[in-house]
Amino acid sequence: VELPSPEPKRVLLASPRGYCAGVDRAVITVEKALETFGAPVYVRKEIVHNKHVVTTLEEAGAIFVDEVDEVPEGSHLVFSAHGVSPAVVAEAEARNMQAIDATCPLVTKVHREAVRFARDDFEILLIGHEGHEEVEGTAGEAPDHVTIVDGPHAVPHIEVKDPDKVVWLSQTTLSVDETMETVRLLRERFPNLQDPPSDDICYATQNRQVAIKKVAAESDLVIVVGSANSSNSVRLVEVALEYGAKASYRVDFADEIKQEWFEGVSSVGVTSGASVPEELVQDVLEVLASGGFTEIQEVKTAEEDLIFSLPKELRPKRAS
Ligand code: SF4
Repeated sequence: VELPSPEPKRVLLASPRGYCAGVDRAVITVEKALETFGAPVYVRKEIVHNKHVVTTLEEAGAIFVDEVDEVPEGSHLVFSAHGVSPAVVAEAEARNMQAIDATCPLVTKVHREAVRFARDDFEILLIGHEGHEEVEGTAGEAPDHVTIVDGPHAVPHIEVKDPDKVVWLSQTTLSVDETMETVRLLRERFPNLQDPPSDDICYATQNRQVAIKKVAAESDLVIVVGSANSSNSVRLVEVALEYGAKASYRVDFADEIKQEWFEGVSSVGVTSGASVPEELVQDVLEVLASGGFTEIQEVKTAEEDLIFSLPKELRPKRAS
């Protein structure tokens, strides 16, 4: 007699997921700064938006502050991966800080675009989340030329002086689909809106969204590992829901997983934001395995091999 066998419980593991090149570089920057200069090393804002990373670096001697004036004069101060405005750099200089800039090069690229378009007297419509550190940093490059557009709902309220001289730029960690919708609505209002010279939403954000779309289409439930203030992690939950997951939750740690999420669930998608160490994903997989989700299938949509060199203050000095 053959009894009907229960559906196998499987995990679809998105790839790429987790650390991007900019986060990897920023975390190593703080570690190397501690090694090279000794504790304490100050860091303005969270080096990357992940609780576990911040706590681990704090234990190693990093001190996280909100603003430069909280740091004793002359200290070593790291600027986070999200970038800083020129006003912050100037303040650090005025306080004789030994600044080490861990801004992701892909954020710096957007800063340069903002400077260039402002110099050419464009009005810059910066699509991004109001109050996010990256947006503050980019807007600070040209405060008189930048208007922040916080998603499609904000478009009807945007005012510009000359509709024939506007360009859009964006935060690096947005939803690609939502940003295209914002641009479409902006262009309806300002038909001569100029595009940025290249993608501002970075490769890592895009790749993680492509992978989760594929995973979500085949998953009952999608778990995204990442912190609440991590823009790209929060976007992954939204994208998973849009692309077919019946439910999706974000957790910082595996112990936040709840039993009630699993009713009628036979396939679970798993991914993690660009600021999330892989060990936190492995913890989630262990919890899932204990609930019978032992079959793991990797869903790979891209290869990533980008590496950024460390900030110049931490590169080995050449013999002169
Ligand atoms: Fe850089 Fe993109 Fe990573 Fe942000 S998410 S640190 S822009 S690579």
